[in-house]
Formats: sequence, structure tokens, C-alpha cells
Amino acid sequence: MLNCLFCRIIAGEIPANKVYEDADTFAFEDLHPQAPTHVLVVPKKHIADLAEAAATDANVVGLCQLAAAEIARQRGLSKGYRTVVNVGPDAGQTVFHLHVHLLGGRSLSWPPG
Ligand code: AMP
Ligand code: ZN
Repeated sequence: MLNCLFCRIIAGEIPANKVYEDADTFAFEDLHPQAPTHVLVVPKKHIADLAEAAATDANVVGLCQLAAAEIARQRGLSKGYRTVVNVGPDAGQTVFHLHVHLLGGRSLSWPPG
């Protein structure tokens, strides 16, 4: 999508520190990390958010979670990590291209704010 920040990162039009890529997903370092590991995993297909995802997106939505798990393995996050999907204003979603936050490398409080 033309004016989508994450579509433009996937296309290489806006720089990002890529950490993982496969046929369906793309992952890069968050610009404002909230933990020692803070990676965003996105589907290459533009989906605005989880609320907009269709049943036909089930595979790619799951693949984003599995990519996050693979990155966590590669980084040795054996003590744990969290994957987060913010949806809509109450969750503080700011970029409307579905993304999974992978947070790890420190103790994470519960419940989240
Ligand atoms: P959310 O609030 O769930 O929509 O998360 C959006 C995330 O994108 C935030 O954690 C931002 O720090 C991150 N972000 C915004 N712009 C960029 C960028 N150009 N490169 C990497 N991460 C970004
Ligand atoms: Zn997009």
C-alpha cells in the first residue's frame, strides 16, 4: 500500500534494520525499543490490523507468531519473551499495518499497561 510505513519498509523504500525475512513475513528492529529485544514482525501482505484480518489471512497471521518464536530462539531468549499485537486506539496502535511486537531480554511485568 502506497502510504503505509511498514509496506514501504518491506519494499526497501524506508530504511530499517532487518532481522528476518521469508516468503510471507518480514521482521525488523523497532525504532524505539522497549526492551533489549524489540522486533516487529509483519506480514508482507498489507493487513491494517487484527480486526481487519480475514479467515484467509489465518496462515500469515500464524506465520508472524512463528517467525517471532524463531527470532527469539536465534537470540537465545530461553527465559521467556512476549509477543504483542496492539489493535485500535485503546491499545495504542499507531501504525496500521498488522505487526507482532517481540519483546524480550528483561523481565516483563503483568498485566501490561
Ligand atoms: P503500535 O503502537 O503497536 O502500532 O507499534 C508501532 C511501532 O512501530 C512502535 O513501537 C514504533 O516504535 C515502531 N516504529 C514506528 N516507526 C518505525 C520505523 N520507521 N522503523 C521501525 N519501527 C518503527
Ligand atoms: Zn502496509
